[in-house]
Amino acid sequence: MNGPEITLEVAPELRLFVAHDRRLGRTAVTTDGSSTLGHVVESLGVPLTEAGQLLVDGCPVPASHIPGAGELVEVRAVRRPQPVPGAPLRFLLDVHLGTLARRLRLLGVDAAYESEDIGDPALAALSAKERRVLLSRDRGLLRRREIWAGAYVYSDRPGEQLRDVLGRFAPVLAPWTRCTACNGELAAADKDSVSALLEQGTQASYDVFAQCTACDRVYWRGAHHSHLEAIVADAVAEFGGTGSEAPTA
Ligand SMILES: [Zn+2]
Repeated sequence: MNGPEITLEVAPELRLFVAHDRRLGRTAVTTDGSSTLGHVVESLGVPLTEAGQLLVDGCPVPASHIPGAGELVEVRAVRRPQPVPGAPLRFLLDVHLGTLARRLRLLGVDAAYESEDIGDPALAALSAKERRVLLSRDRGLLRRREIWAGAYVYSDRPGEQLRDVLGRFAPVLAPWTRCTACNGELAAADKDSVSALLEQGTQASYDVFAQCTACDRVYWRGAHHSHLEAIVADAVAEFGGTGSEAPTA
């Protein structure tokens, strides 16, 4: 490129996306004089889903701004919690985020997930069709223009991933209301109505409390591993929620 030179300052939270030699403080960038600021930011490696306010010489500009010579551009991180206007808050998770999907469902958060790799174009199209925030650790996927909204998942550890998403989007938590296997909603059930689906040992030991309205999977008291109880308790303590529907047996 051989055009105007600008100075870019990327927020500390976003520097992991930028090449090592550009991570410290301000960096000079030569643009082509016709690309948008959004394109310039993306070509540095920062997904636009992660960029919050863009400032030129202290004033906010849209991503469509064409940078001119000598401008000082600041790229801020997204605001937390980040508002997602235009549809109920729901998510679509990339194929590598199965554990995160199950944990979000455990907390009652609508989290679609395909365990088979349907490919980037299909995932992006699904995000657009169902207006779901696409969660991924794949920057290339997040750059696809057709996604409705997206967010980079910063950690590769499920516990940190969950805190990242809950802190960023502040979804309403309703633990034990959603099927962890298929994302369907749970409805109250009693043992008699679902006894045919239960093994004998289960019938004797547990009280049924819910059944998935989508896949018929049955949930019963006492069957949750203690680590699931701990995940729910920690999330509710830090991010709120009713928590009152948890099985107590
Ligand atoms: Zn289900």
